[in-house]
Order: sequence, then C-alpha cells, then structure tokens
Amino acid sequence: MHKIDVRHVFKRYEGASTDALQDVSLQVQPNEFVTFVGASGCGKSTLLRTIGGLEQHTGGELLVDGRAVNGPGPDRGMVFQHYSLYPWMTVRENIKFCRQLQVHRGKHSSAEVEAAGGRADALLRLMGLPHVADAWPNQLSGGMQQRVAIARALMSRPDILLMDEPFGALDAQTREVMHDLIRHVHRLEKTTIVFVTHDVEEAIYLGQRIVLMAPRPGRIDTLYDVPLPAERSQDMKHSPAFLALKRQILERIRETSGMHTDTDLLDQLTRTATTV
Ligand code: ADP
Ligand code: MG
Repeated sequence: MHKIDVRHVFKRYEGASTDALQDVSLQVQPNEFVTFVGASGCGKSTLLRTIGGLEQHTGGELLVDGRAVNGPGPDRGMVFQHYSLYPWMTVRENIKFCRQLQVHRGKHSSAEVEAAGGRADALLRLMGLPHVADAWPNQLSGGMQQRVAIARALMSRPDILLMDEPFGALDAQTREVMHDLIRHVHRLEKTTIVFVTHDVEEAIYLGQRIVLMAPRPGRIDTLYDVPLPAERSQDMKHSPAFLALKRQILERIRETSGMHTDTDLLDQLTRTATTV
C-alpha cells in the first residue's frame, strides 16, 4: 500500500480564477524522501498542506495509509519556514507541548507523560541540543530554533514529516548542517519525508525523487529520480551527475514558468551558468 496516495486532486481557492492544483496524482512509498520544487505559486505549499490536512481539496482523492485525509493528525508532523515556537515556554516544554494537549484530552496516562519526557530529551540529543533544554526560544539562533521545531514535530512519532521550506531563512552553512541532520533523522526514525523547497540544489541533495511542479494552473510537470547513493555527502554536489540534473531541472523550471521567472531562480540560473 502507498504511504501517501494523491489521486487526481484538484484545489481551487475561493474566488480564484485558476486551479492552485489541477489533476495532481502522486504516490509516495514508506520511508521515501521526496522533494517538491518549482517556481513560486506553482502549488507546492498547497499540495503539502492538503496532505497535512490543513487545506481541503476540491476534487479527487487523497489517502494516507489507505484512509481518506480529512484533517491533521499525529501521524503527520509538520515544519514550516518560520519556527513558530511558543516564546513563553522553554525548549523542553515546547517539544512536549503537543503531547500534553492530548493528555488533557484524556488520551494518555501519566506513565505515558513520563515516557514523553524521556522522548523529548532523546529528541534533543538527536538534534544535538541537550544543553538548551531549559533555555527560552529567543536565546537560540535560527538554526537551533528550527531544530527544536523538528524535534517537536517528531514528538508524536509521526510516520510522515511534511516540511515547507524549513531552512529557507537560514544561512548557507547552517543549511548544510541541517541537510545532513534531516537525512540522519530520515534514516534513524524511518520517517517518510515530503520536503518543499524552491532551491534546486537542496531538492537534489535531500531527495530520492523530485517532483517538479509548474504554475497557472498548479500541476505536476516532471518526476526525476535522483541518481545518487542513499548515503549522501556534501562533495557529491560537485559530481557530474548532480550538476547535470541541476541544470536540467533549472532549465525546465524556466520553461514552465514563462516570463515570470522569480529573482531567486534567476539568481540560481546565473550561478549555475558560471559553475557548470
Ligand atoms: P508555492 O508554495 O509553490 O509558492 P502556493 O501553494 O503557495 O504555491 O500557491 C499556489 C497558488 O494558490 C498561487 O496562485 C497562490 O496565489 C494561491 N494561493 C495560495 N494560498 C492561497 C490562499 N490561502 N487563498 C487564495 N489563494 C491562495
Ligand atoms: Mg510555498
């Protein structure tokens, strides 16, 4: 059975004149790492939020583990670009918070709450942050805050992690560290990951498969298998296979986005032109 099964899904926002998603079909397998790329406005976030149950599709079928999605659930953790930690809670409290909410609703025994404390600390170690458990979010760098947000998303042991440009606000060096960290999490927790980015290099380095989307109407244009071994290292970014795929995808994005190439992509194209 597919982990995520998107079947001819349509999404049109109220009052919009074009589909944000038009006839989108995609299957994601358990423990797969899939990245979505494409020009801004092509529906990457809409598709991710629809899988997360935060957005209701207006046509087609969307199944997770064979069941129709009709809202968010603890099986799908989400991480967004803005860290969105609660400033009035310590790091450990932020991580445990969602679980505590479920306790108040009577879903967990006190023994399970104890166990949750253990998991929060284990996740802090996994994220390389055991020393900041009692710190406040505003005492942490952006990269550290985002690691806390990932730990929080992993707290309910989700099968699926949905990430929307989670490293978009971080500097280049911190992003590289985060890339290797999230691949480590993927291996260790056996999570299925769907990761949205407009950065083609990030999409290739992280993904086993790339879904290229096109705008107006938002749709899937091309699927690419990433010809890199499961174990990645930063030097692979300079390999001929990596650079050839990067050039191919950037060209296709430019073709599909018409005159409206956004400045980020233009910048990436210029950089690729000088390095390839
Ligand atoms: P991406 O993440 O690829 O940049 P989005 O999914 O954010 O694309 O947007 C796809 C299309 O849907 C765009 O045309 C955008 O303007 C529109 N859209 C996104 N969110 C909303 C919303 N909440 N209400 C109305 N239109 C929206
Ligand atoms: Mg988006």
